Amino acid sequence: MRTPVIAGNWKMNLDRARATGLVRELCERVDGTAVEVGVAPPFPYLAPVAEAARGTRLWVAGQDLHVEPYGAFTGEVSGAMLKDVGCTHVIVGHSERRRLMGESDELVGRKLASALAQGLVPILCVGETLAERQAKRTAAVVLDQLDAALSGVPEQAAAPLIVAYEPVWAIGTGVNATPEQAGEMHRLVRDWLAKRFSAGFADRTRILYGGSVKGENAAGLLAVDGVDGALVGGASLAAASFLSIVKSCPDRARARGLQR
Ligand code: PEP
Repeated sequence: MRTPVIAGNWKMNLDRARATGLVRELCERVDGTAVEVGVAPPFPYLAPVAEAARGTRLWVAGQDLHVEPYGAFTGEVSGAMLKDVGCTHVIVGHSERRRLMGESDELVGRKLASALAQGLVPILCVGETLAERQAKRTAAVVLDQLDAALSGVPEQAAAPLIVAYEPVWAIGTGVNATPEQAGEMHRLVRDWLAKRFSAGFADRTRILYGGSVKGENAAGLLAVDGVDGALVGGASLAAASFLSIVKSCPDRARARGLQR
């Protein structure tokens, strides 16, 4: 029984007034849905957004964290600091950080371990580039990313994990994976989790799809068995588009008797 999650990654967008306005509107409108909803604002807006969401069911995530809890790392933000300002979740290994900031699989693994050590729920992003898909390396790339990120992490420590399968070619391009492609990859990830940890762990872990999800395609993707929600970029920047994705979930959730 997995509660669906719809998470908005605001990336480097919005300003303080728009960020707090958006989160207030979301908090009002998602109250009572059977879906777990969260947002990942830019670092400077985490505190006001978390403050605006305090006492509601909407959670707030960092978009990244440093591996160390504190120290001489100019420009960096730690998991301890994210927690201190009200975050409960953190995105780890987003493809933009892997590609544009040069984050290796190994560094992503250290960040994931740090998030878990700080008591944050890590949303681990994995996914292949178009060239890797065309070279038929999709499964190998994604399994390598999982392997590196979760290397040495015991099952109990990994319990809060959320995985986001995000094909790089689908992020911000308007070209989403088909429900069949998403279903195939979510099965692959879940099977890997079952082998790496246990069948129970795989059964409990939410696996989100990310990549050009919008109101128009959300229902089809979220209806796929094993797709437990979405990580949403562009469409999370306005209440109407984000809420239309959230609304694509509740029937499934209610049908499964979920109240959260
Ligand atoms: C993302 O950045 O994680 C993402 C899925 O972006 P978009 O929805 O804009 O493709």
